Amino acid sequence: MRGCSLHQISPTGTMTETLHAMANSEDTTIKTFEFKLRVNKSFVEACERELEHSRQIYNAALAERISCHQITGKSLGYVEQSRHLTDARILPEVKNHLRAIQQDALERVDEAFKGFFRRVQIGEKPGFPRFKGKDRYHTFSQKYEKVRPCPIKGDKLTVPGVGSCRVRLSRPIEGQCKQLRITRRVDGWYALIVCETPKPEPLPKTGQTVGVDVGVTSFATLSNGEEIENPRHLKSALGNLQKQQRRLSRKKKGSKRRAKQRIKVAEAHLKVARCRKDYHHKVSTDLVRRFDVITVEDLNIRGMVKNRHLAQAISDVAWGSFFTMTKGKAENASRTFERVDPRFTSQICSICGHRQKMPLAIRIYECGKCGFVIGRDHNSAITIDRAGQARIYARGEGAVAHRRSGNAMADLNRNRGAV
Ligand SMILES: [Zn+2]
Repeated sequence: MRGCSLHQISPTGTMTETLHAMANSEDTTIKTFEFKLRVNKSFVEACERELEHSRQIYNAALAERISCHQITGKSLGYVEQSRHLTDARILPEVKNHLRAIQQDALERVDEAFKGFFRRVQIGEKPGFPRFKGKDRYHTFSQKYEKVRPCPIKGDKLTVPGVGSCRVRLSRPIEGQCKQLRITRRVDGWYALIVCETPKPEPLPKTGQTVGVDVGVTSFATLSNGEEIENPRHLKSALGNLQKQQRRLSRKKKGSKRRAKQRIKVAEAHLKVARCRKDYHHKVSTDLVRRFDVITVEDLNIRGMVKNRHLAQAISDVAWGSFFTMTKGKAENASRTFERVDPRFTSQICSICGHRQKMPLAIRIYECGKCGFVIGRDHNSAITIDRAGQARIYARGEGAVAHRRSGNAMADLNRNRGAV
């Protein structure tokens, strides 16, 4: 890191999380416990210092990668940067901070680059990793490499190298702590304790499969015909967010009122994110409980399809996290989670396999070949379910797929009767 400037250059960037990769055995799973902190002034100051230092390490590591590539044409990896960090630790201002926290900043740079190259590879428009401004860096964290006691004892949290404070204990912590993250949000400071816990017992088989067609207006449509609506509290949170954003756009740039309004917008964002996450938990738990196989559309492929609505692209971000959550729960319960090619799912007749153009405005599928009439999303969900079963069958897990196809046909017959 020596020789690199430790100054901020420009803001922004997203943080990727690969915590689930930390579960190192098949019998364990990763659970994150989140607690709001009851901070005092000195703890906040210590956390802010740590955050700022982490941010500087992040930006320095990013700058180092860029200049190394410019000068030598080679790319610098995480291992080399770790070594450079060791060198830099002879400087007292670097040595003053915990190595584990600095290491985490290096890992985040590494993840940002991996994400960038992954997006290049799948043909998405990649954003190059960016320097983080003061208002874009809110989390510092440290991994627990060795087995160490939980950082929370009673209602007291101890952050090694930083300090301690009280927490609002909302639920008991289970398992072995693997990582401690401290994060600043618009409504206060939070600790996230990432633990490795034993996998729960697999759920009993239900003999049911499902295809999930996610929507823009409603939450999702299932292949059994169920429609899942967005909950009212989420709709009202979204409405409020729009209202606050409109107000922000009317405030004069650089004014005090604008600064105040920005906080309101951030609060509205947080509210939406929380409502959404709660609801995602509810729906994903329900799906995993009821179905042995859950099939969704592969959004990575969907992202590559051109001429899509902006609203769709935005909602895909939320869908991505819903799918990741469902996948995690499915794996823990020994269920199967499939992703299938989304191209043509809305065009293929779920009865006879005929394909026809389906402009977005057309909400009812009327098959030009067999005359079958069904809701557009319902038809897609059935096609998705079928494609998922076909993939399982192709992998040679035929016994599962056979039982499923029986059910799918029963579903279809029921639907046919209903329409
Ligand atoms: Zn047909």
